[in-house]
Amino acid sequence: MGRVNPGQKIQKGAFPQYRLMKNTGFIVYRSQKLTILLRILGFDVLYLQDEDYTSAINLAKKTQRILISRVKFLRKLPWIFYLSSDNLEEQLEELLKGLELEIERNNLFSRCSSCNNLLQEVQEEEIKNELPKDVCRKDYWFKKCPNCGKIFWNGTHIITLEEKFKKLNIHL
Ligand SMILES: [Zn+2]
Repeated sequence: MGRVNPGQKIQKGAFPQYRLMKNTGFIVYRSQKLTILLRILGFDVLYLQDEDYTSAINLAKKTQRILISRVKFLRKLPWIFYLSSDNLEEQLEELLKGLELEIERNNLFSRCSSCNNLLQEVQEEEIKNELPKDVCRKDYWFKKCPNCGKIFWNGTHIITLEEKFKKLNIHL
């Protein structure tokens, strides 16, 4: 994996008003993969795809979220975190280091990767009919999004994710 370009390092204190808040939220602009990954890690992330820059910036200001963007000409604005890399793993590394974010184990898989809503734990019996046929293991947990209805469980895809996190030195 490539290293974060030191020239792109965020200056200390670049986000003074946000650093004080423990649960700072984010807006990811036009990077759905990063949005999904951050939500899986438990971060509060709004995703904007079609909106123009002004709407994205206004929403960031209004909701006091940090706007994460690859748009170069926006990078000097104080509420924007500019990503220098196109690579997903490198982007995550940039964010974790640049904003000194910590991943909390308890927050993992706490949010819906589709809509950002907090998930609710459910019993397999409650959602049995909504699951694919091969999903039935006693050691699985199941969570459902009360907003969009999507169901999550700790199937084999979790191992792939854990491998990805290990590469990033995230040990869960
Ligand atoms: Zn949802």
